[in-house]
Amino acid sequence: KVDFSGPTHKVQIDEEKWIEANAVIICTGASAKWLGLESEQRLNGFGVSACAVCDGFFFRGKEVAIVGAGDTACEEALYLSKLATTVHMIVRKGPDGMKASKVMQDRVKQASNIKIYWNSETVEVVGANKVEAVTIKDNQSGTVATVPVAAFFVAIGHQPNSDIFKGWLDMDEAGYLQTVPGTSKTNIAGVFAAGDVQDKNYRQAVTAAGSGCMAALDAERYLGAAGLH
Ligand SMILES: Cc1cc2nc3c(=O)[nH]c(=O)nc-3n(C[C@H](O)[C@H](O)[C@H](O)COP(=O)(O)OP(=O)(O)OC[C@H]3O[C@@H](n4cnc5c(N)ncnc54)[C@H](O)[C@@H]3O)c2cc1C
Repeated sequence: KVDFSGPTHKVQIDEEKWIEANAVIICTGASAKWLGLESEQRLNGFGVSACAVCDGFFFRGKEVAIVGAGDTACEEALYLSKLATTVHMIVRKGPDGMKASKVMQDRVKQASNIKIYWNSETVEVVGANKVEAVTIKDNQSGTVATVPVAAFFVAIGHQPNSDIFKGWLDMDEAGYLQTVPGTSKTNIAGVFAAGDVQDKNYRQAVTAAGSGCMAALDAERYLGAAGLH
């Protein structure tokens, strides 16, 4: 819990101890959404990944699968198509139900090495110690196919860890904290945000670290200007 109502800011730790501070930097990150399959969690880090631009390179020259149908999934499928021999893209709905913008859909459909499985869902990620295949079910025909792949990418969205700031801080419709452009300042003086919790575009370690540095400098300047440091 947090309480940003007073002149000093309060943050509760481990649901018991309250800490008071003149400046707070929020860097709670964003969590990838998962399908919820046991095999997906067991093989996480062994071919299962939620970040194609981070881990795609390890599967250069191999066949990979990706699940998702939004702009991010399309962007990641296109990125993978430049590295992998074939990208098997699993889409739960049909061509008319895809969430991605038309321009991204068209780019994916036109890529010669992206094979789209419409109206399909992932039954299981197959492999004892690393990803070896993915089992895909066509929900219209009921057909189940096992496709050999070396990696399985999940691109069904991220959830910014910002619930505890609801009602205090400005956030977009997805829950990403909003900062004054070019700074880490939130709508409350002395409260700053850095990293993935305020960045739905890049979500990379290096950008998170950079914005963390910005937040540290912003906080130091804030404390200095207020005569608190
Ligand atoms: C599979 C994968 C591979 C990746 N590979 C790369 C890569 O190769 N290169 C790269 O640049 N980036 C990579 N990334 C992205 C990178 O990990 C993130 O961009 C980066 O870690 C974001 O840093 P952050 O500090 O904002 O958040 P995080 O690293 O997510 O840290 C947030 C922390 O806040 C904690 N937290 C959340 N809520 C609360 C709360 N209420 N109270 C207290 N603590 C809380 C969390 O437990 C966590 O420890 C990868 C991401 C994934 C998922």
